[in-house]
Amino acid sequence: MVSNKTIALDLDSVLADVMQIWLQEYNAVFHTDFKKEDISDWHIYNILPISKEEISNLFITVWKNRWQDIPPTSNDISEVTGQLLDQGFRISIITKRERVTMPFVSYWLDLYKISFSDIVFIFDNASKNHYPFFLLVDDSPINAKEILSPKKIVIFDQPWNRLLVTYTRISKLNQLFDLL
Ligand SMILES: [Mg+2]
Repeated sequence: MVSNKTIALDLDSVLADVMQIWLQEYNAVFHTDFKKEDISDWHIYNILPISKEEISNLFITVWKNRWQDIPPTSNDISEVTGQLLDQGFRISIITKRERVTMPFVSYWLDLYKISFSDIVFIFDNASKNHYPFFLLVDDSPINAKEILSPKKIVIFDQPWNRLLVTYTRISKLNQLFDLL
């Protein structure tokens, strides 16, 4: 079974540290100085005076116009993803996003030489739980609740998911090796 050896990785805020650039753009527009640590709620509109639609539009702008500036969450994620494949795992990148950002995601994965076996772009409200994997690394508190046993979720530490105290948590992708 493919799912027995497939590790699913979220993209935004697990591989790509997109909120760094998102906040640069937000701060430039609104003349503010918010840092990632300030975003302590998954729903950004609970922290910043901005609508859901504006939040989404700013993500689109960042991916379209500044994808080359989006840093990886660690400098070694190319090596880490390569080693996971070498160890016999499959890597499935599963990312829920606006379709217009799709090509820029591909460019970004090439630029940072991320190894993976396949990629799923979800454009609707489908749960990630439907896809084949045994372990998902994700930063979303919503996805955390949707992943059902025997599948497992590891939370990628971000300021907006710290209330998930009972979950296994990593803050760098290479910490995954200790869990496999
Ligand atoms: Mg994410």
